[in-house]
Amino acid sequence: MKRLEALEVLARLTEQHPVVVTCAATSRELASVKDGDNHFYLLDSMGLVGSVATGLALSLDDRLPKVVGIEGDGSLLMNPNVLPTGGFLAPDNLLLVLLDNGVYGSTGALPTYSSRVDLERLAAAAGWTTRSVDTVEGLDAAYRELLDVKGPAFLYGRIEEGNAQGIAKLLIDPVSITGRFSRWLRDVHAVNEVTA
Ligand SMILES: [Mg+2]
Repeated sequence: MKRLEALEVLARLTEQHPVVVTCAATSRELASVKDGDNHFYLLDSMGLVGSVATGLALSLDDRLPKVVGIEGDGSLLMNPNVLPTGGFLAPDNLLLVLLDNGVYGSTGALPTYSSRVDLERLAAAAGWTTRSVDTVEGLDAAYRELLDVKGPAFLYGRIEEGNAQGIAKLLIDPVSITGRFSRWLRDVHAVNEVTA
């Protein structure tokens, strides 16, 4: 499965969810599929998807749709502490999707450690419920399965090397991204409070 194919599935499945997305090619490709107000692109903030998503999950009402993080292997390996942190704090409403292509895809495709370090096992050892997929059908099914999990969930997706061609740079000001995401969160909360 290509990253863009995985992101097409995830964009559809996460329409009602807060989504924290890693920087560079992953953010650009997701925005090219769908640029939603529920997307929090962490531009230039490599390694922080797990941190931000865990913090959001802990701070949000867990009756709301789960917080979804979309992370890459190079970025996760920059800050692997997010796995024991999420496993220890164990929010019920956290789903971290790792799209592992085995390389630093946005910076020349040098290999990451993921060929010899099993990132799914690392997450499982830290207390996350995990599933592993390498097809879009598998991704769709495992995502739905993990939505029902109590505690932190980790969806390992094996993707092909390479970035989608012809994708525009994501030039939205990070302040604007934060503002629209915050407004979206407040609106969702308000609707939830009215209907609870
Ligand atoms: Mg990668």
